[in-house]
Amino acid sequence: MPDQRITLTQFIIESQRSCGKATGDFSGLLNDIATACKVIANNIGRGALAGTLGSAGGQNVQGEEQKQLDLIADSAMRHGNQWAGHLAGMASEEQEDIIAIPDAFPRGRYLLLFDPLDGSSNIDVNIAVGTIFSVLKSPRPGAAASLEDFLQPGTEQVCAGFALYGPQTMLILTTGQGVNGFTLDHGIGEFILTHPLLRIPEETQEFAINASNERFWEPPVQRYVEECLAGKSGPRSKDFNMRWIASLVAEAYRILIRGGVFMYPRDSKNPKQPGRLRLMYEANPISFIIEQAGGGASTGHNRIMSVLPESLHQRVPFVFGSKREVERINRYHHEYVGGNEREEDRSPLFATRSLFRN
Ligand code: MN
Ligand code: MN
Repeated sequence: MPDQRITLTQFIIESQRSCGKATGDFSGLLNDIATACKVIANNIGRGALAGTLGSAGGQNVQGEEQKQLDLIADSAMRHGNQWAGHLAGMASEEQEDIIAIPDAFPRGRYLLLFDPLDGSSNIDVNIAVGTIFSVLKSPRPGAAASLEDFLQPGTEQVCAGFALYGPQTMLILTTGQGVNGFTLDHGIGEFILTHPLLRIPEETQEFAINASNERFWEPPVQRYVEECLAGKSGPRSKDFNMRWIASLVAEAYRILIRGGVFMYPRDSKNPKQPGRLRLMYEANPISFIIEQAGGGASTGHNRIMSVLPESLHQRVPFVFGSKREVERINRYHHEYVGGNEREEDRSPLFATRSLFRN
């Protein structure tokens, strides 16, 4: 029934009212984020028609090729969120330093961190990409934020979410009271609540990992994957399917709907880089959402949201998904530490077998 549909704005204001914290400030911020995501969705949707596919010809602070749409999305997030007085500062994957609120605008009480376009290497092949965001409270509301103000663990997030630009444009949101999914109704330009209180299924038969890195994995990850691949006749006594989209938002959404586990573990490919994904604007917000939906998120050893950040663009190993699977992967890591894994837990994997050939 169209008149019973709940818009994102209504949802935010009503849920704030119910917990007695309705200042309007926070709902204003979320509205601005949602509007920026609609601008990005519109740009992505036009693709080659707007001449915005392909490389921008430069690299970002991470040494990654910047796509034109990375820069368009970064600009949409910065300009859409800097003016309203909700923020003391911003930080983006595409900007080396924190982003100051221009002097022309008032400063507020929140900090916004974002990955403006996650999965952007997929943009030219028309695979789902997204925008990830994380909101922290500024320790010094109203003052210009410093880098140190941002370096808070994920447990301090007051809100996290991501937009997914797929066959449908969706917004997935948590403010610490569960996870809700909204679908963009293009006809009226509003996000509508379509997936209330998402819960990750506990039972899963899917895992996602970039198997081309197998030779660089640590033994606990090799063991976990090997046991999945062994299927019905192996120690897990069931068959698994393997998934890999190389788009964190798309993987996270699949896991929210269907369960499963995602791994971008620590590996030995680049010793200077303990993981691939960025703590502050990828792993933390996704972890907050996943935990709020009943799942788990870890480095393999510790809860992601407990990691004390040391720098803005810090990378971490990242494992998340159905809680029992994440707990199992953590256990394999703990058993392996110091090489004191118990004999009965030792799998043939600790020998030198490969994923695809024995
Ligand atoms: Mn990303
Ligand atoms: Mn990105």
